[in-house]
Amino acid sequence: MDKRVGVLGGGQLGAMLVEAANQLRIPVNVLDVGHSSAKQISSIGTHIEGSFKDPEAIKKLADISDVVTVEIEHVDTTILEKIAGTVDVQPSWKTIRKIQDKYAQKQHLHERGVATAESVALKTASMEEMEKASRDVGLPLMLKSRREAYDGRGNYPVRTKDDFNLALEALGGNKDLYAEKWANFRVELAVMVVKTKDDVLSFPTTETVHENSICKLTYTPARGVSEAISQKAQELARKAVACFDGKGVFGVEMFLLEDDTLLVNEIAPRPHNSGHYTIEACRVSQYEAHLSAILDLPLQQEDLQLREPAVMLNILGGEAKDSHLKIAQAALKDRWLKVHLYGKGQARKGRKMGHVTVCAPTMSEAERRMQPLIDLVDEGKP
Ligand code: ATP
Ligand code: MG
Ligand code: MG
Repeated sequence: MDKRVGVLGGGQLGAMLVEAANQLRIPVNVLDVGHSSAKQISSIGTHIEGSFKDPEAIKKLADISDVVTVEIEHVDTTILEKIAGTVDVQPSWKTIRKIQDKYAQKQHLHERGVATAESVALKTASMEEMEKASRDVGLPLMLKSRREAYDGRGNYPVRTKDDFNLALEALGGNKDLYAEKWANFRVELAVMVVKTKDDVLSFPTTETVHENSICKLTYTPARGVSEAISQKAQELARKAVACFDGKGVFGVEMFLLEDDTLLVNEIAPRPHNSGHYTIEACRVSQYEAHLSAILDLPLQQEDLQLREPAVMLNILGGEAKDSHLKIAQAALKDRWLKVHLYGKGQARKGRKMGHVTVCAPTMSEAERRMQPLIDLVDEGKP
């Protein structure tokens, strides 16, 4: 356990990675601003203050690390390519570069026979290009930013031609857009996949529930999904991740359509919100799995098994500055609920401030225990 891990980004995913590393006293060096979430809980590593987009800062991180990894894909891959000569970068910078452009990612998957929603790039952010794209993929469609997207912030649903202008305005100024055929999904699924040096392994199939394009809840195992479809989702997720180089955990988001067709929505080359449940519900968490993969520690398929059904609820920033703390406090009334706060300080509306996971012998019991908290979250809505 003498290898040092360098992480670009010190948000909640970095923090939970540090939590897993702390148990094994694996030194994790974090590159991010000041007192970021991950830095707050690690004094084993040597942190670097700066932006995870700054080439100089990334070089400094590389100098003190044996393996460099990311907790966010919106990083400078030119510098990752450079440092890859002297430090192990996992997953590969090529993978991160491909995935950070959501359109290029889709093309890459499509070319390798992985089913995705039909997509077409807009040459310019113009009405003519919108017209063309809508002829290609039909209406409704989802207009998406190719880069820097998260929590649905780069997405705009386009129902009719009347929305063209609004959509272009909403994603304003962004020249890198693409249109995606509307997926009439029955349910959204996610599978966390682990690429080790020899294998492609997968965690259980999770159901994800989004509200306003932000993940609100996850249920594992996915409810109302047959064992056969759950297996198909695992296979598709593993096939999708096998298309990319490098080691580590990948989050694969999928749509299950009405006719049981599965499409890959997108892949994240890092631990993922839909895998938080693994901390309490699986033998090995997605964070331990990520460390195991990038450091070549032993890991097998059976280690990723679900121990108990689990429900995870995201705690988002609300209208009031401290509404997330009220939710956390309420969660403590039932100690089966495990509360994770990210220490991000000021809440912004819709910002991920923490999450709560509950495991129980049956899904219905886990749901019953989470329900008061879901009610509280919904009450706070205007
Ligand atoms: P993340 O935070 O997961 O990175 P993101 O900003 O990259 O999100 P997407 O995953 O592309 O955004 O979309 C967010 C949500 O919007 C999806 O989970 C889904 O609920 C909805 N969505 C996305 N694409 C489509 C589509 N083609 N048809 C219907 N709904 C869609
Ligand atoms: Mg995304
Ligand atoms: Mg997504």
